[in-house]
Amino acid sequence: YQVRMIHASDETVGADFYVLIFRDVSEARRIDRMRTDFVANASHELRTPLASLRGFIETLQGPARNDLKAQDKFLPIMLEQVTRMSRLVDDLMSLSRLELKARVAPDEEVALAPLLGSVCDALQPLARELGVTIERQLGETTSSVRGDRDELTQVFENLIENACKYGQEGERVIVSLGTSASGDPEVSVTDFGPGIEPQHVPRLTERFYRANIESSRSKKGTGLGLAIVKHILTRHKARLAIRSEVGKGSTFTVYF
Ligand code: ADP
Repeated sequence: YQVRMIHASDETVGADFYVLIFRDVSEARRIDRMRTDFVANASHELRTPLASLRGFIETLQGPARNDLKAQDKFLPIMLEQVTRMSRLVDDLMSLSRLELKARVAPDEEVALAPLLGSVCDALQPLARELGVTIERQLGETTSSVRGDRDELTQVFENLIENACKYGQEGERVIVSLGTSASGDPEVSVTDFGPGIEPQHVPRLTERFYRANIESSRSKKGTGLGLAIVKHILTRHKARLAIRSEVGKGSTFTVYF
């Protein structure tokens, strides 16, 4: 608690008055700590690939100066590190843009089926590379929501990309648009990958949280994708539900 004391004298009655104000600052402290942790995590995530790049550059300038074999081996790894850093910086920028816009309500009419269709089209090359087939179940619904088209595109890109990355090779990823009992649109992304152990599920939308990354099929990622998804959905007064069964697969559903 932060404590403040106010003192006042009232000469007409000849008395002193003291007021003590206790202010609960635990929430402010918590947010402060989250911010510090976030900066520390982000710096750590950038420092690792930077240190490795420095090592490669020093080797290529020094001992491996004329070694073509070493160059062939190191350059693709260096490119991968640079790609990783770009991805991280892009995700960090998305988060900070969202924070800046936090007070402006998104208010465009966004038709969901065409948006989902173009996200699936855009992710087709990745799906092919990872050996999964994206199946669309967009039906005849003409559902639309009020929101920000670019932000909603990012939500479904992140969810479908995850389903391709963490799904099962040779299997499908199903993207379906439906209507809930209350008549509101809902979008599900289902994969048939190894699933997520229950203890990880509530933490997946935390920044930098990654589950079982060592055994995972894809190690590419920043751990920021679902944090961005949650941020955007909160702005849209929508909700993300994660259902997963180990050994069977996962379904991420957005309820508008
Ligand atoms: P990342 O950049 O690591 O993919 P995300 O925030 O998008 O970051 O996801 C956080 C973690 O959630 C991932 O590292 C992965 O462990 C887990 N995850 C997300 N989607 C799936 C999925 N469809 N199946 C299994 N695990 C998933």
